Amino acid sequence: MSGAASVERLDQWVTRQARQRPFAGAVVLGEDRLTYGELEDLSNRLARCLLDAGCEPGDRVCLLMPKSPIAIMAIVAIYKAGGIYVPLDPAGPAPRLAKIIASCEPRWMLAAGPVGGLLETLMAGEGWRESTRVGWVQSDGTQAEPVWADFSARDLDRYAGSPVAASTQRRDPAHIFYTSGSTGVPKGVVITHSNMIAFIEWAVPYFEMRPQDRISGHSPLHFDLSMLDIFGTFAAGAELHLVPPELNVLPNKLAEFIRGSELTQWFSVPSALNYMAKFDVVRVHDFRALRRVMWCGEVLPTPALMYWMRRLPGVRFTNLYGPTETTVASSYYTVPACPEDAAPVPIGQPCDGEVLYVLDEDLRPVPAGEVGELFIGGVGLSPGYWGDPEKTRAAFLTNPRSSHPEERIYRTGDLARVGTDGLVYFLGRADAQIKSRGYRIELGEIEAALHALGILQEVAVIALPTEGFEGASIYCAYVPLPGRSLTPTELRGELSRLLPAYMLPASWLSVETLPTNPNGKIDRRRVAEMFRQPEAARHETHPA
Ligand code: AMP
Repeated sequence: MSGAASVERLDQWVTRQARQRPFAGAVVLGEDRLTYGELEDLSNRLARCLLDAGCEPGDRVCLLMPKSPIAIMAIVAIYKAGGIYVPLDPAGPAPRLAKIIASCEPRWMLAAGPVGGLLETLMAGEGWRESTRVGWVQSDGTQAEPVWADFSARDLDRYAGSPVAASTQRRDPAHIFYTSGSTGVPKGVVITHSNMIAFIEWAVPYFEMRPQDRISGHSPLHFDLSMLDIFGTFAAGAELHLVPPELNVLPNKLAEFIRGSELTQWFSVPSALNYMAKFDVVRVHDFRALRRVMWCGEVLPTPALMYWMRRLPGVRFTNLYGPTETTVASSYYTVPACPEDAAPVPIGQPCDGEVLYVLDEDLRPVPAGEVGELFIGGVGLSPGYWGDPEKTRAAFLTNPRSSHPEERIYRTGDLARVGTDGLVYFLGRADAQIKSRGYRIELGEIEAALHALGILQEVAVIALPTEGFEGASIYCAYVPLPGRSLTPTELRGELSRLLPAYMLPASWLSVETLPTNPNGKIDRRRVAEMFRQPEAARHETHPA
């Protein structure tokens, strides 16, 4: 950004690039591409259309569409209209999406792609409010326009493409990302324009993002890492190359994509890197244009990092760490040289404006080298969970030891220690939150969904680390209601109506009783042992 003046809202980076370089590529997916000029023009039209239809500052606007240049355009338009962007996973099951919709009460739903059936189910559901209007912004005619849409892409032609002046300010919410909630209801993390701008203004110069860059857009839009892809690219005036999601299970094709698109920067969850390492698809000195690889969201096993660093000696590798609640990432560590052994790499030091604290139960700093819980303060801190002051109070505390009495800190639930090198090391979770293929999952949400089926007497969901690329694997032991037999396949089928595929346990065990500890609670350690025993070959495993 080389000293460029800051912005008030995220969309202003697009306007700035469109003025300076309207013909430069902004976002690409296969044959589908938008220049900065086109992105600016279309997003101004869509913003006008939303404003014309009564969108007011702070109105929530849900986005239900696959990752595409049009979806990115719609995000920019929502900001221009002063709305709050709420991404919905178009592959998500309707009951879970309905909970998110009931929580954020959108004024608008912008949809495109093969989501017509899903949207009809949502609109027929109990939580749908009549006042929510639907815009169908598919522009290529591949999907028929549903009769119930309040406006369609064709209507945009009626609006001017000149700049729109929204009254939103820096401190206003920009988006709400819903993460897994332990009680079965997803939690809506509110992120302001200011939170996001501060992160991008650190990331762009640190990662030396510049107009010549071709940056990956690997994360799904409902995952907050996508915000660095999109707005890092736009702040730098670079070109965003959306990675087709189907390549995730085709490591060879994924590598080909990096090669063919001549990507200069790659950012993803570790599982994508791990997967390519496992299938050995990276050649020595491969990906000639690539300068930087970044990952975030969970631990990248050091052997996988060594694989990458040996093959790509000229590339810089950075570990980013942070929860959604503190805006994409709060700390970073650029690995100085290929590690010589498999010791974990640190999560490093705080990004500009962020503070990391390793504290004990009384919120006192633990001595260097000792394990404590990681708390985060600073410019990335979310104002809290949408419509949930209780959960907000439990997770966002005032820092009793700060000289600023107002300073808030976020309780991450992560265990950490500060090393003798002054860097922070991640040591795992203090609770039942896990990561599987980069997805943040509360095991409690899976249990709550299983209970909600009303066909089980007892159930325990646990996670165990795997040797493979997928992080933790999820296991479920259950006791059917008396007199009822229920095969794992049947139960899995029922659960898939309520939860996305990445939350479905991979292994299942039907038992007569679950082990309990002396205070009568389910003994999860012994449940884990049940799955480790050879005779537990009785359990049924499903491809995840
Ligand atoms: P999410 O809100 O989905 O970004 O998940 C946040 C959680 O992911 C953190 O609290 C950590 O448990 C984990 N996490 C994020 N980044 C890393 C990393 N680089 N290394 C280890 N764990 C990570």
